[in-house]
Amino acid sequence: MTTYKIAVLPGDGIGPDVTAEAIKVLEALKQQDPDFKIEFRPFEWGSEYYLEHGRIMPEDGLDQLKSFDAILFGAVGDKRVPDEITIWELIMPIRKNFQQYVNMRPIRRLAGIESPLKNEQPIDFMVFRENAEGEYSNIGGRLYQQQSQEMAIQNTVITKQGVERIAKYAFEYARKNKKSKVTSATKSNAIIHSMKLWDEVVKEVAEDYGEIELESNFIDALAAYFVMRPESFEVVVASNLFGDILTDLGAALVGGLGVSPSGNINPDRTFPSMFEAIHGSAPDIAGKGIANPIAQIWSAALMLDHLGRPDLSTAIVDAIEQVLQEGRVLTPDLGGTSTTQELGSAIAEKVQQLIVK
Ligand code: NAD
Ligand code: MN
Repeated sequence: MTTYKIAVLPGDGIGPDVTAEAIKVLEALKQQDPDFKIEFRPFEWGSEYYLEHGRIMPEDGLDQLKSFDAILFGAVGDKRVPDEITIWELIMPIRKNFQQYVNMRPIRRLAGIESPLKNEQPIDFMVFRENAEGEYSNIGGRLYQQQSQEMAIQNTVITKQGVERIAKYAFEYARKNKKSKVTSATKSNAIIHSMKLWDEVVKEVAEDYGEIELESNFIDALAAYFVMRPESFEVVVASNLFGDILTDLGAALVGGLGVSPSGNINPDRTFPSMFEAIHGSAPDIAGKGIANPIAQIWSAALMLDHLGRPDLSTAIVDAIEQVLQEGRVLTPDLGGTSTTQELGSAIAEKVQQLIVK
């Protein structure tokens, strides 16, 4: 029987708090199901580590991570450390080197969650964000600094192969889950080089999936459609920047950042995939014990699905929904007064009840 080996990077701010609750839920599953074996190894890489060692992870950090079955990541960000360190020297190297080119972000309104939209239609779609290239590039530079003609150039990198693989992943997912439409986020009317290539390649990929409609929307209009008709989306495919922004908007429609998970997937399984809430380290509420752990617990559920235990993954999401519907244990972002730990414990207990063996 496999024992899943999980590298845990709790990170900064609320990262460690919400990650501890995700582990609590996984430990609860392990107690209940003798066939489920999982081990955690913590890596304390983050801003504290950077302040002490002058780098955010050891030189051989990626080597240390590469043999794990998956990575559970908290969040990083600390006002004493520039974001370009936390993002470009920890998150990006993991995503890029481990070829986690798919960022999957479910936008789904769970039972018991109120949407800020008056419309009570179900909201349930999947956003696939390109995760390895695009607008998040460190190519470019600053010129004429401190002069009146000062300028910055920031290059976007869109490759045919990069678009092909994310688009194929989105269409394959749509086919497997019997979805009828894939929506592509573009801006080829104004960004005429990179986004035109994006459009061409997405269209080419779509031709192999005759039964699935391709809808292509400009990103600005698409943002408006997210609010006006969120129930009409099934699968959305977007570049790195567009996907990032769209999914925070999507999260806001279904209960906020506190309940929105993600997976950074390496579909070829040549390196571990990484699972994390889409939120950051939330410095405004860090240390208060009130962060909502649901996004991170749900991310752990995505991890179990990826590892081949969709049954346990579903049990976690069911447990989250039941706790939300009961409405007794909720963190302040959901209108309650409970703590991170209380909500985590309520979900852990519920999941044990759900998988009585
Ligand atoms: P953020 O997601 O940390 O916070 C945005 C808002 O959402 C805040 O008001 C916060 O309190 C709230 N929020 C976030 N998660 C919550 C939760 N679990 N429960 C309740 N409320 C929650 O975004 P930000 O403030 O823009 O960024 C803070 C830091 O995090 C920055 O340093 C940023 O670079 C970093 N960041 C890291 C990641 C990552 O590690 N992948 C992602 C995004 C931002
Ligand atoms: Mn983001």
